[in-house]
Amino acid sequence: MPFSEEQIHRYSRQIILPGIGGKGQKKLAAAKVFIMGAGGLGSPAAIYLAAAGVGEIGLADFDRVELHNLQRQILHRTPDVGLLKVESGKKTLEALNPEAKVQIYSERITSANIRQIIRDYHLILDGSDNFPTRFLVNDACYFEKKTLISGAILRFDGQLSTFKPHAGGPCYRCLFPEPPPPGTVPSCQEAGVLGAVAGIIGILQANEALKEILAIGQSMAGRFLLFNALSLSFHEVKIQRNPHCLLCGEDPKIKELVEYSQVCQA
Ligand SMILES: [Zn+2]
Repeated sequence: MPFSEEQIHRYSRQIILPGIGGKGQKKLAAAKVFIMGAGGLGSPAAIYLAAAGVGEIGLADFDRVELHNLQRQILHRTPDVGLLKVESGKKTLEALNPEAKVQIYSERITSANIRQIIRDYHLILDGSDNFPTRFLVNDACYFEKKTLISGAILRFDGQLSTFKPHAGGPCYRCLFPEPPPPGTVPSCQEAGVLGAVAGIIGILQANEALKEILAIGQSMAGRFLLFNALSLSFHEVKIQRNPHCLLCGEDPKIKELVEYSQVCQA
């Protein structure tokens, strides 16, 4: 299908970029990205992906919008308080770009449904706010051979990496074999988070998703980025596949999805 005049106009500032062009715009239109969580990270990520013309966005969140979310979860507006976050998110994304197809998942994502849900998508963005979900998403992406763009935030700090064990890189468990014991790492609810930090990391996740779809630039696979807002510093650490990884190592102990107990909600 050739682009309409409106589409060429809408995407003109990125179509003219080297490495994108009409061909890249078609790749974006054909791309399906699943976003875990319509919160602090998922909000800016989803907005930039929809704006860029990503054809299909899957949005999963079982929470409803609360007033204290609005400080950073920019998919939602004050009149949306009380709505399901996925409903509010879909409304925002479709208003921004009516071409964006937004699939919503308001059920809790568990070991029973995650593999089937993500199977339909090319790329997975994890914007979840707790360790049980982060490990569940990592393991499901490993089993389904999906590229995972992972972000995390707390207080003034953020982290970002891309995990592609199917292409030889490490998985999340290569770095963090098991979730920390409940209570040892505070949640955003307990420790707080600066809204702009969520914006920065979420937008970096969108940036990496666009690069993976377009196959341009240097992937964040094998690289782990640490961000601090107070010093405004970025540090990058090289990361490698761990041959003893419980999941993707040579003698894996984890052969199916593990359900860790949900210890906190943010
Ligand atoms: Zn691993």
